[in-house]
Amino acid sequence: MSKILPRPTETSAPYWQGCQEGELRLQKCNACQQVQFYPRIMCSHCQHQSLDWVVATGGGEIASFTVVRRGVSDDYPAPYIVALIDLEEGPRMMSYIVGTDPESVTIGDAVMVEFEEWSDEITMPVFRVVAAK
Ligand SMILES: [Zn+2]
Repeated sequence: MSKILPRPTETSAPYWQGCQEGELRLQKCNACQQVQFYPRIMCSHCQHQSLDWVVATGGGEIASFTVVRRGVSDDYPAPYIVALIDLEEGPRMMSYIVGTDPESVTIGDAVMVEFEEWSDEITMPVFRVVAAK
């Protein structure tokens, strides 16, 4: 498999490390308590630079999705579902929906994170529908 892999940076390394350990980690601002994704060097809400990592529940809801019917390469067997997930903690993230018939996915479906090992360094968070809307 040779999917296009993200390259962890100094800022995002704890996030990718968390995925390898089965944890979805988000940054939380020590000044305003805002939780954010993706990893940044400062709070996107108040620009404070004191951020801690918190472990998300992994639960969320599908805010929007698209069914990709032609993969970018053979490493992306189509059809597959790319979705925007509203996490329980607030941030919205883009990911994949797995284990679901593309025709049955609905906005508002409740999802839970799972982790797929894409390489030795990269484990990708994906989501599975746990309760259809
Ligand atoms: Zn803040």
